[in-house]
Amino acid sequence: MRIVRDPAELAVTERPVGFVPTMGAFHEGHLELMRASARENARTVVSLFVNPTQFAPHEDLSKYPRNEARDAELAEAAGADVLFAPSVDTIYPRHTTEVRVSGVSERFEGAIRPTHFAGVATVVLKLFNMVRPDRAYFGLKDLQQCAVVKRMVEDLNVPVELRFLETVREQDGLAMSSRNVYLSPDERERAPRLHDVLVQLARSLREDPSVLAEELVPAATAALNRHGFEVQYLALVDPESMEPRSKFHSSFRWIVAARLGNIRLIDNVPA
Ligand code: AMP
Repeated sequence: MRIVRDPAELAVTERPVGFVPTMGAFHEGHLELMRASARENARTVVSLFVNPTQFAPHEDLSKYPRNEARDAELAEAAGADVLFAPSVDTIYPRHTTEVRVSGVSERFEGAIRPTHFAGVATVVLKLFNMVRPDRAYFGLKDLQQCAVVKRMVEDLNVPVELRFLETVREQDGLAMSSRNVYLSPDERERAPRLHDVLVQLARSLREDPSVLAEELVPAATAALNRHGFEVQYLALVDPESMEPRSKFHSSFRWIVAARLGNIRLIDNVPA
């Protein structure tokens, strides 16, 4: 596996090229995306770039876990051919053009983190233009990110095929996340309740389709509060538009964001 800092050295001759954009601190969620890419493509490029423009000033950019040597070993073992790990100056020699995807960016994560998705969309498009992948791999763990990238690719005719992979979880159901290492032992024990509540909501709506999603939310929120969560949003959504929905449809997803102590957790499951 080559480690590349300069986009001029990214030229990959063998196609198809699969691309996995990441911010590092790899866990099985990242590695599953890399393995899927390695299975489906002649070459796999993984980017490791902690993108400053998707963090607000008060967020955890400086504390974001970083360990490139460990990540390089894991990426190679998962089948990556190139680890593209550019500096911030390489990606942002200046900052004048921004990609903003209206609509799908605005609710939920976008309402809580108003500058986040412009940062994501801009860096993803820049990385696509540097790597020129045939396919790109994203995790459904970040459902709204998938919706934003999909819409951007459609609206701007970006020639890439998108692949979205289901969330990889710990044995107790907690969605894997680079930020889970910051949970205290007590919080780590409570954290899987977030997934339990989503699974229960999905079951309740499937078992009684006459009930409305928003009728189920208050009891689920109360259950999370009892476990020490501070719920930011909990809703049934259409993942194409990221609009809330009331009635069951098999393509919809239950989404949640909640704080547990100082850590913000997000998760989602199929309806
Ligand atoms: P990040 O490094 O957090 O920006 O994530 C890089 C990619 O890995 C994104 O497409 C994420 O959605 C995906 N990802 C993160 N956590 C998981 C997980 N638990 N399961 C599957 N994919 C994930």
